[in-house]
Amino acid sequence: MTVTETASAAATAVPSAPLPPLAARSRSIGGSPVRDILAVTARPEVINFAGGLPAPELFDAEGIAAAYRDVLAETPARALQYSTTEGEPTLREELAARTSARGPATGADDILVTTGSQQALSLLATVLLEPGDTVLVERPCYLAALQAFGLAGARVVAVPGDEDGIDPVALEELVLRERPKLLYTVPTFSNPTGRTLPAARRAAVAEVAGRRGLWIVEDDPYGELRFEGERVPWIASYEGARDRTVLLGSFSKVMAPGLRLGWLRAPAELLRACTVAKQAADLHTPTVNQLAAARYLADRDLDAHVARVAAAYAVRRDAMLAGLADALPTGSVWTRPEGGMFLWARLPEGYDTTALLPAVVRHDVAYVPGAPFHADEPDHATLRLCFVTQTPDEIAEGLRRLGEGLAEARVA
Ligand code: PMP
Repeated sequence: MTVTETASAAATAVPSAPLPPLAARSRSIGGSPVRDILAVTARPEVINFAGGLPAPELFDAEGIAAAYRDVLAETPARALQYSTTEGEPTLREELAARTSARGPATGADDILVTTGSQQALSLLATVLLEPGDTVLVERPCYLAALQAFGLAGARVVAVPGDEDGIDPVALEELVLRERPKLLYTVPTFSNPTGRTLPAARRAAVAEVAGRRGLWIVEDDPYGELRFEGERVPWIASYEGARDRTVLLGSFSKVMAPGLRLGWLRAPAELLRACTVAKQAADLHTPTVNQLAAARYLADRDLDAHVARVAAAYAVRRDAMLAGLADALPTGSVWTRPEGGMFLWARLPEGYDTTALLPAVVRHDVAYVPGAPFHADEPDHATLRLCFVTQTPDEIAEGLRRLGEGLAEARVA
């Protein structure tokens, strides 16, 4: 028995007879090979550019606490009771109003409240995907979306693109060739690249969707965190895509991820199917969290809070952009996001960011290697950096360590 096995045997208290065989869908997605390395980043001395963690000191803890206090004091019987699967009417009203103000007309009945937008992805996978169905994604793509589609047994195919995002011409060719069930995209301040699909491309994607009958899942947890530039309309706002786009939203990045509050906007029939799937998954999203969020939206100014968060994140993005040229090897390139939480870098040909990570972590700094974000051929020279969790000083120090770690690993 190895040391690791002994340690984990000692840590677990539940004995196990031989398991029945795991379902094929569960066997099909393995754990991430970098998970063990990134587990080390929980050490407090590690400057963590790896996690996608919003800055905790910017949470409006006081405002959120007041909202919980109020709903528990005034409507305890409701706040602590079971609720409907669709979600609390007051919250759905608020979400519908916020969605209508920014894009397509939306009523409370068009919204399903979900336990984080991650649940929306798994509900959609459950109700739409048969094993073997094809899903089109961006290259690179949000990791946990790949997992949700993988668990459903889908074939995931990446749409070719460039620095601006997916190429609508290549998209149309793939639609004709692959007959996909849907396209999944994070068009604004994408995870992992930070890129935003320009308006003209959105219009072209929407046109392809309308012409070829393509369904789109538009995932937008970061869109409100804009530091500069003009807001770009949702793909769901464009003619052609309007009646065939599922729009996903989340409070994780603008309020707090621990609330686990997300939502999806979809045509009635699909919303109903997702509601039934959600019933089987968790009955409903915690009532007290929904009512507290609705109360927060009614009593406070979420947009003003988001503006403060975005202003702080802009300074952090600039701190990271300012230090990257010294930290990364000559010949590296990176994105310059106008908002969101991430930027994406590519080291020169021949670098392998997965292989380099252990040496970098020994310098008490961490990133996520880019390879697992690729549905197809991985690009081993890429990596994702989150620029919002640390202060500007910590970012500068983290980049100094990253530079040292990369240089040392390269020499060794
Ligand atoms: N979609 C994207 C693109 C994300 O980056 C995340 C969070 N990392 C999620 C969905 C899930 O967010 P949540 O479940 O917290 O709403």
